[in-house]
Formats: sequence, C-alpha cells, structure tokens
Amino acid sequence: MHSLHNISLKPYNTFGIDAQADRLVRFANAQEVQSYFEALQQPEHPHLVIGGGSNLLFSKDYKGVLYKIENKGIELYKEDAEHVYIKVAAGEVWDDVVAHCVAQQWGGIENLSLIPGTAGAAAVQNIGAYGVEIAQRLVWVEAVDMNTGQMHVFDREDLSYGYRYSAFKDEKREYLITHIGLRLDKIPQYVLTYKGVLAYLEAQKYAHTLHNIRKAIVAIRESKLPKPEALGNAGSFFKNPVISAQKLSHLQAEHADIPFYRLQDSTNVKVPAAWLIEQSGAHLIAFGDAQVYDKHALILVNKGNATGADLYRLAQAIQHKVHQRFGIRIEPEVLIY
Ligand code: FAD
Ligand code: NAP
Repeated sequence: MHSLHNISLKPYNTFGIDAQADRLVRFANAQEVQSYFEALQQPEHPHLVIGGGSNLLFSKDYKGVLYKIENKGIELYKEDAEHVYIKVAAGEVWDDVVAHCVAQQWGGIENLSLIPGTAGAAAVQNIGAYGVEIAQRLVWVEAVDMNTGQMHVFDREDLSYGYRYSAFKDEKREYLITHIGLRLDKIPQYVLTYKGVLAYLEAQKYAHTLHNIRKAIVAIRESKLPKPEALGNAGSFFKNPVISAQKLSHLQAEHADIPFYRLQDSTNVKVPAAWLIEQSGAHLIAFGDAQVYDKHALILVNKGNATGADLYRLAQAIQHKVHQRFGIRIEPEVLIY
C-alpha cells in the first residue's frame, strides 16, 4: 500500500485535468484493501475509488482521498463443454482482458475492444459498445466493504444491471471491487447488429472471426474516437436519452429524419445524443480549450489547457441548449466531481 499526499490528478484522468487531490492510496492487491479498511472501520471522508480515470471529470481540486487498486491477473477457474469461466483482477487494463480472451478464442467481449479503463470499473459502469454490455458476461463481482474491510461476492443478478448502470453507482457505492468473474463462449456467437461493424468486415473481406471482429472494432474506434494521450477526453460525455413513443412522434412532426432505436420490451426509444447536440447547434459552443470533438459531438475534449471548470461549464451549456431545442434533458455519463 502506498499513500501519496497533495498529488496532481493529471496522470489519473484521461481529460488531462491538472487538479489536485489531498491524498491517493494505491493498493497492490485485495488483501491490502481488506487490511486497510479493517483497520479504519470506515473510509475517509470524502473518498472516491478510481480506476483509469477515463470516465471522470474533476471540475475542481478533490479535497479528499482517492483509492486505487492495481492488482493484476486473468485466471481460468472453471470450464464446461460450452463455456470458460475466468477470474479477472480489478486493476487489469480492460482492453488487455479483451485481447487475452480473443487470443484464447473465448467469445463474448470482443465488441468491447479498446474501451479504456480497468476491469473493476467496467463492472461498475456496465460498459457497452456495438450491442454488447459486460453485464451479459458477468457472473459475479468480488468487492470489499469499505466500512468494515469484509470481502463479499455478489451474483450478477443482485447488482441491478441496466444501461450504463449498476448497484455500485448507488446502494453499493461503499464497495471497492477487487475481482470480477466472466463467463465466455467456447463457440463464439457474434453480435453484428451495428451496421458499421458488419460493413467494415464486408469492405475488408474479413471472415467473421473473433480476431477479425476485434480488428474491425479497433479500426473503427481509432478512426472515430480521439486517443486520450493525444487529446484529453472521457469518451461519450452524455448518455443517449430514452424517450416515449409519444414524444418521438411529436419530434418527428418537425424532424422526420430523427434517428432512433427501439428498446426491447418497451415502447420507449433511444435517441442518439450526438444527433440532438448537432441539430441544436450545441456542438459549436466552446469555453477556451474545452470544446466538442469535431468528429463526434458526444465527446468533449480538452484541447490543451482547459480546466475542469471549463469542461463542466461546456457540459451544462450543451445540456441547456439541447433542452431548449428539443425539451429533452441529456444526462452526463461521465461522473463529475
Ligand atoms: P474511472 O473513470 O476511474 O471510474 C469510473 C467509475 O468506477 C467511478 O465511479 C469509480 O468510482 C468507479 N470505480 C473504478 N474502479 C473501481 C473499483 N475497483 N471498485 C469500485 N468502483 C470503482 N464506456 C463505454 O461503456 N463504452 C465505450 O465504448 C466507451 N468508450 C470510451 C472511449 C474513450 C476514448 C474514453 C476516454 C472512454 C470511453 N468509455 C466507454 C468510458 C470509460 O472507458 C468507461 O466508463 C470505463 O469503464 C471507465 O474505467 P476507468 O477504470 O477509467 O474508471
Ligand atoms: P454509432 O454506431 O455511430 O451509433 C450512434 C448511436 O446510436 C450509438 O450511441 C448507439 O447507441 C446507437 N445505435 C447505433 N446502432 C444501433 C443499433 N443497431 N441498435 C441500437 N442502438 C444503436 O455510435 P458510436 O458513437 O460510433 O459508438 C459505437 C459504439 O461504441 C456504441 O455502442 C457506443 O455506445 C460505444 N461508445 C461508447 C462511448 C462511451 O464513452 N460510452 C464512447 C465511444 C463509443 P449505444 O451507445 O446505446 O450503443
């Protein structure tokens, strides 16, 4: 366990915001996490668990303690005729986990290629892309209760998974995830429902294999999304709003071309927030180096010297403009502190 005082957060958030934190506690493994919180009997106040900082916006200095687990390991612990079960350390880089599984010919998470961040955070966020969410593959999540130091293993069913949502964002926010369990397929079932992926495979004349799907997704993402090392960002800043069928038909009267996707088991539809931002003109708003990425209106970028406050102001101005234009409130996916 390492404890660092008065640190710059710049290396710990992909926006590259140079805010300060009072303290950062880094754990090498789950035992260190348990011992630390067993001794403390309650976490410091305020506190925040961080992974790779790829979904966080520090709008000001963090006057509290950050906890970060840096354990590693991907272990096959069980298999049957159809599946393998793996135990993944929370501190693993998520994309290394995907690369490993694809190399082993284990199917199920290839569509989640190149998503930044750690395996632990992936289970908090219920990361999703190209029609796949990690919740579909999670079996259990192991986490330490920061109020007691006790280890718990939660079944996926007990974690209220939904669109970019899990119980770790709510009633289980006092848990620090140490490992996750995933079930993967020995005979992969490809999810190619997003037009771009299929079109890419066809254009390249790539056969449908795990390796080629990963390759396609990496290529698409590299062409569309800014690399945080080159241009500070936290991916999609807002979630795609879900609206009623009635609201949709109201909007269609004025915008016949509004894109939407039907949700399973619901009459509600999902509307791409990027479209709402562009149509409202909100993508043209900027506060100094806090700007909207020119290739993707859902992504806010730090062009160099933006402060967290600049980015926060930009996000609020975009929300306001979209609401004014469409009467839809887009909610941040990025967590703002
Ligand atoms: P952080 O940002 O550090 O933390 C995220 C949340 O998880 C916080 O609430 C934090 O408290 C909590 N947390 C982190 N680790 C733990 C732990 N061990 N225990 C308990 N709580 C923890 N997301 C998608 O879903 N799909 C995408 O396609 C996608 N693409 C992206 C592309 C880019 C270029 C970027 C920059 C981001 C993208 N994201 C995407 C968002 C981001 O990568 C995910 O939300 C990711 O899971 C965040 O991981 P992290 O380790 O950086 O977590
Ligand atoms: P895209 O393919 O241009 O599609 C735009 C939006 O429409 C997406 O947000 C997606 O919703 C939705 N969509 C497209 N095809 C769909 C289908 N067949 N069924 C249901 N919904 C559909 O999106 P993109 O921006 O290039 O991103 C591609 C994928 O990577 C998306 O799944 C996106 O969520 C993910 N991504 C996420 C982040 C992040 O930070 N969270 C950043 C970049 C990319 P969904 O977002 O609900 O899938």
